[in-house]
Amino acid sequence: MHIMNNIRPKALLPILHTIPAWREFRRSLPALQPLVFVPTMGALHDGHGSLVKLAHEIAGPQGHVATSIFVNPLQFGPAEDFPRYPRPFEMDVELLSNCGAGSLFAPEPAEMYPGGQPAITIDPGPLGNILEGAIRPGHFRGVCSVVAKLLEIITPTHLILGQKDFQQQLVLKQMIVDLNMPVNVVTAPTIREPDGLAMSSRNRYLSSTDRPKAAAIYAALTRASTELLAGHNDAADLRRGMEHAITRAGLNVQYAVACDPRTLQEYSSLVDCPCILLVAAKLGNTRLIDNLIV
Ligand code: AMP
Repeated sequence: MHIMNNIRPKALLPILHTIPAWREFRRSLPALQPLVFVPTMGALHDGHGSLVKLAHEIAGPQGHVATSIFVNPLQFGPAEDFPRYPRPFEMDVELLSNCGAGSLFAPEPAEMYPGGQPAITIDPGPLGNILEGAIRPGHFRGVCSVVAKLLEIITPTHLILGQKDFQQQLVLKQMIVDLNMPVNVVTAPTIREPDGLAMSSRNRYLSSTDRPKAAAIYAALTRASTELLAGHNDAADLRRGMEHAITRAGLNVQYAVACDPRTLQEYSSLVDCPCILLVAAKLGNTRLIDNLIV
């Protein structure tokens, strides 16, 4: 079996780099116990850590928490940050083992896509073409395809996803329902920095002068949420309010919208309940997304 223990002797985390190695490891786990899976692209932070801790609670003492690190080339556009996406593998392994992960599947792209571009991919449907999907064509096709493969390889009972990537978890839930995949999805809350910025692997791209400006996104979301709860439910006003506040801080807003969280259809006149506020904005070359359910 190809198990590599990490650099720190005390952090005993089995790391499987190939699909046969994972499958062999899987057979060594107790049958009929929860296997809770947390997929990531690495460059881990406390947001990922909270997902692993939640997975640990769901797995219980007899269950297992499996994690993965795979920077999936299929979900990046040609001009996006795939080549420079941070890959601090040793630090990631340490964080995972400190948070209670039981194993790590960390394949190379050639293991997941031996022929390069796969011939068969998964169509994310209409939800995959709006908001993030409209700005990042092909993104959700890449996400669905890799998560379908990971579910097939890992065969978990539970899948943990973050609310931070709200559209992603919605698209994946739809895929799991439509393709009858036997896995339970749990969505975990967004973990934030003290100034409200949602933790993200991409935050490390921000310069020290840009970093404080990024807090404007969460500030705009919370302000819009307060206004909405006070009865100001004009969709255009809410949109404009968020846009202005974020633009004033020096970011370029890509969208700032109030949507129905079940369908991601934008409220065009009056905002109703339930509502999710979603923002995507660029700060220099760094793209940031966040959301708030009201
Ligand atoms: P990524 O490594 O960016 O692909 O993210 C892996 C998982 O962690 C996804 O389910 C994300 O939604 C989730 N995640 C990312 N950032 C956060 C955060 N700040 N709080 C909670 N979960 C997060």
